[in-house]
Amino acid sequence: MPLQVAPLAEQAPVLHRPTPALACQLSVVVPVFNEEAVIALFQERLIQVLAACPGLHEIIYVDDGSTDRSPQVLENLRVTCPLVGVARLSRNFGKERAMTAGLELARGQAVIILDVDLQDPPELIPSMLEAWHAGVDVVNMRRTGRDGETVVKKATAHFFYRIINRLSDVAIPSDVGDFRLFSRRAVDALNRLPESNRFMKGLFAWIGFKQVTLDYHRKSRAAGLSKWPYWKLWNFALEGVTSFSTVPLRIASYVGFLSALGAFLYALYFLVKTTFWGDTVKGFPTLIEFVLLLGGLQLMAIGIMGEYVGRIYLESKRRPIYLLDSFTPATLTATDPA
Ligand code: UDP
Ligand code: MG
Repeated sequence: MPLQVAPLAEQAPVLHRPTPALACQLSVVVPVFNEEAVIALFQERLIQVLAACPGLHEIIYVDDGSTDRSPQVLENLRVTCPLVGVARLSRNFGKERAMTAGLELARGQAVIILDVDLQDPPELIPSMLEAWHAGVDVVNMRRTGRDGETVVKKATAHFFYRIINRLSDVAIPSDVGDFRLFSRRAVDALNRLPESNRFMKGLFAWIGFKQVTLDYHRKSRAAGLSKWPYWKLWNFALEGVTSFSTVPLRIASYVGFLSALGAFLYALYFLVKTTFWGDTVKGFPTLIEFVLLLGGLQLMAIGIMGEYVGRIYLESKRRPIYLLDSFTPATLTATDPA
């Protein structure tokens, strides 16, 4: 039998699908990557909170290509709880893209993004909804403390926010993670941003609208391990800087200009020295020093440019941001979620 390949139009729903029919009040989007240890606990706490909030709600778990038992755990939740919808990405695309998927699939008038590890307490949802009811489009949750995180992680996070805010044109609020509420029009705006380099904290700030920031104390993980080793965090920081600022490119030109100026002045000095005092073979170390210095500066400038060129290259391929393996939306029929 010949191989059946679905026509492109049928494969397309993963990219910028039109807003699904609005059916519920609040969608909670939860990216999940190898979190079998904590999902059930999270669901229990979230359901308790949602049960106390009026209106119909949905929970969209986005399984970001987990390799542990998370898919089975999620499927069990889905069949037992009508509020649960499960999207599975075709592989691990990273949290930023998993959130993008969740935002595109959400049907709620408001959408909240929550980590499954209970570092963002679901109990804060009512106060977020309150701010939204008061007419706010984006409710940013700022962490006033970070339990269970090393001093190094706290310090690097602090510097990251300071640096990115210096460099970026849009103000990216400090210590605000992905735990936020978005109104429907804010979600629609996010879904219109086509770039595949998705530095979500930047995109969230870029859309503007009326934003407020609420403070909360970030707890340590309920179970499992952080999925963000330092190398991944470093790449994430580079992504953030290069997708929201071209200042590093300018730095490269300034540094180049300064070193050229220095070289010119140094040449003048030698000209005067040789004319009036004659030349000797001395100065060899200086020569080597300068060759190395300039070589280093040039490589640095090329490297910075390379970061941007690489990203232009990736953007120019216009690949979908993520691919869905499957998506089963919440049925949303029952009124009693328990
Ligand atoms: N996550 C994801 N894909 C990844 C890495 C993480 O969907 O590739 C999810 C993870 O399951 C969790 C959230 O993103 O719900 C935050 O991850 P984590 O707790 O590891 O980050 P941290 O809180 O340490 O910054
Ligand atoms: Mg976490």
